[in-house]
Parts: sequence; C-alpha cells; structure tokens
Amino acid sequence: MSTIEKFNEHIMPSYGRFDVVMESGEARTATDENGKTYIDFGSGIGTNSLGFCNEKWVDAVCSQVKTIQHTSNYYYTKVQADFAATLCEATGYSKMFFGNSGAEANECAIKVARKYSFDKYGKDAQRNVIITLVNSFHGRTLATLSATGQEVFHNYFFPFVEGFVNVKANDIADLDEKLAQYKGRVCAVMFEIVQGEGGVIALEQEFVKAIFDRCEKEDILTICDEVQTGVGRTGTFLASEQYGVKPDITTLAKGLAGGIPIGVCLANEKCCDVLTKGTHGSTFGGNPICCAGGNAVLETVLADGFLDTVAQKGYYIWQKLIDHPEVAGVSGLGLMIGISFKTKKAADVCKACLDNGLLVLTAKEKLRFLPPLTITYEEIDKGLEILMKVLEEKE
Ligand SMILES: *Cc1c(COP(=O)(O)O)cnc(C)c1O
Repeated sequence: MSTIEKFNEHIMPSYGRFDVVMESGEARTATDENGKTYIDFGSGIGTNSLGFCNEKWVDAVCSQVKTIQHTSNYYYTKVQADFAATLCEATGYSKMFFGNSGAEANECAIKVARKYSFDKYGKDAQRNVIITLVNSFHGRTLATLSATGQEVFHNYFFPFVEGFVNVKANDIADLDEKLAQYKGRVCAVMFEIVQGEGGVIALEQEFVKAIFDRCEKEDILTICDEVQTGVGRTGTFLASEQYGVKPDITTLAKGLAGGIPIGVCLANEKCCDVLTKGTHGSTFGGNPICCAGGNAVLETVLADGFLDTVAQKGYYIWQKLIDHPEVAGVSGLGLMIGISFKTKKAADVCKACLDNGLLVLTAKEKLRFLPPLTITYEEIDKGLEILMKVLEEKE
C-alpha cells in the first residue's frame, strides 16, 4: 500500500492535502519521495524558523534526546529553566506557562484572564467576557474555536464555550460599543497584531492604541496572540514591539522551537502568579527536547543583527511583488506576507507553485509566504522566479 493509500485508510480525513509525500529537508529545500525538490516559502506553517535540519538546532535536539527526553512537571530540568529565563529576558515578561501548541498557549491565556478577574472581583461579578476580533484565529480546541471570530468555524460542535464577544478589527466605535454593552463584565481583549489565517492583515496602530487605552482604564487584560507573528517572524522578536505596546499576556508557539511542538503563555507582573498550584497543567508542557530546540532558535534569532535581516528580506520580497501587473496588493509585516491577485485564485497559484517546486501557503483569498527566517536572497530570488512564471501562465 502506498503512503497516500495508508493515509486514506487510517487517518481521519480532516485535512485537504496535496498529493506529495515529503521525505527529507535540508536548509530551505524539501525533497519528496520521488526526489523532486521544493524551495520552502512556508516553513511548515511558520514552524521551521531556522529551515530544515539546521546544524546548531539538530545538535541541541539530539544531544538532549540522548541526555533526558522527558521528566514530567513533577521535577525541574535545567534546559527548561534556561529557556524560560532567556525568553523572559528577551520579551520583558515575568513568567510563562508551557504547553505544546498555539491552541494550548491561548487556552492558558484565557484561563489566566478569567481567574485574574475571579480572584480580584469575585465570582458574583461574572467578569469573564473576552473580546476577540472578527476574522481572528486562535486555535482548534473548543475554547479557542469559540474565541475565533469567524462564523465558518462555529459549526457542528455545539455547544461552544460561552463568554466570547467579537469586535470588528480596526473599528474603535464597535470596540467602545461592546465594552459599554458588557460593562464591568469584560476580563480581557484578545487579538493578533497581524491576523494570520484571516488573510495576513496587520491591525491599524490607532486601533491597537485604543485597545490598550480602554483596557488600562478598566483593568481589562490585553492578550496578544503572537503564535504566528512571534519569535522574529515580523522583523522584531514580538510584533507588538512595532506598535509600541506591552500586552499583559503574549502567546507564542509556531516558530518557537524550530519545528517541534511547543506553546507558551507569557504573563507580566500583574497576572503571572494567577495560575496557582493545581489550577493548570500539561503532561508534555516544557518538554526538554522542545526546550533544547527552543534554546537553539532563541540563540539564533536574538543574535546581534539577525532580526534586521528578517525585516530587510521581507521588504525585499515586498518590493519585488508590489508592481507586478497580476498583484493587487501585498500585506503583512517582515517575513509574514500576504499577496492578493487581480485575476488568479490564490489556491490555484499555490498548487501551480507546488508543481513547479515552490512551497507556499494560502490565507483566505491570499497567497501567504512564511519562509524560514534564515532564507537567503538567492533562494528568495529562485522562489519568486517560480511564482512569476506561474503568474504568467494562462489558465
Ligand atoms: C496557528 C495559530 C494558532 C493555533 O496553533 P496550533 O499550534 O495549531 O494549536 C493560534 N493562533 C494563531 C494566531 C495561529 O496562527
């Protein structure tokens, strides 16, 4: 039986997949089972931040596997402590909780926000409403699906978790209206600085400022979901840095450990001790192998000058695309790039790129690039050449 036949026989059909079986990867090139190679502009949906099998990362992960692979959270490990210390130092946050995915990082943020208000205002206040944005994406668990402000996700799995209210992105009047409607009941506002799955749309500075302004006045926590935008993706370690704001909580996941599962919820002084003993946990959270991979990622991304190269490469790609006659618009920040077309469908372009040896992603009606942060200009040129060729093809 072929690999694809085994999938169809034994794996639930929840994904739409391309008919390609990936076998190996090196740097920014993936190879399928037939030996065909692909330039990687998707990095496993933003996870392989250092590309495939980066040497420093491989050494860190392999050496950890051979030392101690897991201990449970009944004990301490040095590798987890070192990772947490570096990440707090880099972000200015006080403490973190470890999960294994973006959804888990956001679940933790939701719990922190609700318990913060519970502890401070009491059960009877029912201060548990979380405002999220229309067109957001926060994950696939029931709570994070409920938080996700896209109607297409609110199907089949009723009943959803209560207490999420959506505000239109960049609509300050709507924000004020919902805050008034739920006065005294809102414990947090949660948002992506650049909506990823929603179409690579950066929030407007004014709107972000308005969120922080309102939240500060009413002791409402700000939760920034940087699962996709974080860890250098946008050219700063956190995308929120470019907006001059310091959310009470930031969640990270995708690129944080270089392609192995991790998710963290970072909290500031105000709410970092809310989750007291026994109130939250995870069997695999803080796994030493993932932390070792994470340490290699942090060491690379935080090295002097590295983040500037990300911003520069993002700008380079943006410039190459913006004047193309088929390109209607380019959006995003740094190496998180969305492209809309005048006549072509992003899904068709994505498939044609694959056929021609370039891995790209889509987000809603846009093509999306999330290349490894270590991609070279030569590889960018090669990848864009493939895209240009695809754009010139007649239907
Ligand atoms: C991918 C993503 C998630 C979900 O992460 P998982 O690891 O798939 O659970 C949540 N929020 C944002 C912004 C994401 O891009």
